[in-house]
Parts: sequence; structure tokens; C-alpha cells
Amino acid sequence: MVKKSFAAFAASIALASILSARVQATAADGFDETQHSLVTANSLWVIVNKSHPLNPIRYAPANLVTPKQFNNGKLQLAKPAADAYVTMATASKAAGAGTLSIASGYRSYALQVTVHAQDVKKFGLVAGERLAARPGFSEHQTGLAADVWAPAQGCRIRVCFSGTKAGKWLKANAWQYGFVIRYPDGSYPTTGYQFEPWHLRFVGVELSTQMHSTGVTILEKFWNYPNSPNY
Ligand SMILES: [Zn+2]
Repeated sequence: MVKKSFAAFAASIALASILSARVQATAADGFDETQHSLVTANSLWVIVNKSHPLNPIRYAPANLVTPKQFNNGKLQLAKPAADAYVTMATASKAAGAGTLSIASGYRSYALQVTVHAQDVKKFGLVAGERLAARPGFSEHQTGLAADVWAPAQGCRIRVCFSGTKAGKWLKANAWQYGFVIRYPDGSYPTTGYQFEPWHLRFVGVELSTQMHSTGVTILEKFWNYPNSPNY
């Protein structure tokens, strides 16, 4: 009994030193894990997935704007995402990767009711929910997510977007502008969404750079959140 307690004590000391080593490593590389909330609806880092709906569930961002360029449909995004999107699209064009546009930006709770119902009607409940979130559970409701494409290259909201010039450029470069490809190929067991090379989530340059340099591509993995393939 004494032996067991000692072992447990030793294990807790070992764990504490691992944790403190991690904190020191974090401080050394300059990344502050605490600078934004993961749960507040208007935070750049908010985690929204099938087990973490927005709170309040009908949340609407106060800082929506309509980017004036690279936005044929005049869709809205939250201001920080909109500014970064225009900078990124300007760079894509300059790099010869294509002229981007937004296929879907901010979607209100009410609009998501319609989108979810349409996809479920078209593909059935299981396949439909691999594409469309239930209202209150969509990143599009934060204003920080943009479905992007280059109209001249086709593949709007289709997996073949990953093979277009624009899709390849975004995969390689979106992180430099604060975006992550939120549902990379193979992320279904973690996110519950199929490969969506077009769905970019703005998280800010610090986090996207940290994810890029550590090679962790999925937000849930980065933050040690449990897998959430189902509601
Ligand atoms: Zn999307």
C-alpha cells in the first residue's frame, strides 16, 4: 500500500515536471496559449464542432463587414477574417494562383436551418451532416469561416478544389494569413466532416503559424480536444 502510494506520488512529480517543461517550451517559442478564449463565441480561437455549439446558440457577431474585393456574391465575414481574406486573395492573384471569391461566408442561425435542411434532404441525414452543421454548430455562424474558390477554375465547394491552382496555393499558404484548412483530408474521425479543401477558418496568424510549425493540422488535435465526429 505504501509502495503504491509512493509510486503514485512519484508519477505525479514526473507528470508535474513534464507539464512544467511544456510550459517552458511554450514560453521559449513565444506562443501564448492563453491569449484567446476557446469557448467565447466572439473569440478568434473559439472551438465550434459537433460537441461544442455556439453559446448562445443563436450568436451573431457584431463586427460583420462585406469585403469589397474578391467577393462576387457580396457575402459577409467578421472584420478580422475579412481583412485577412482580402490580403490573402491579393497575394493569390499576385502569385498567379487565381482570383479568389467567397462561395459562402457568414451564415446566421436562421440561414443554417435552411442549409442543413437542404443538405439532409439532398444526401440523407448521415451524408448530409458530413457537409452541413446543425444550426448553432457551424463555424460559418462565427463569421470567421469562408468557403473559398477561384471562379475561373471551377470546383466550387467540391473536393476537386484541392487539385486546382487556387486550392494548392491555399493549402500551402493560407497559414501565412491566419487561416487554417479546417477539415483536411482524413479528419472525419476527429471533426465529423468530410475533406473540405475550400473551408478556411480564420484563427489569426499566431495560431496558424504555430500549427504550421508544429505540423498539427486539426484544431481539436492542437488543443487536445476529444474527437467529435457525432452530435
Ligand atoms: Zn464551409
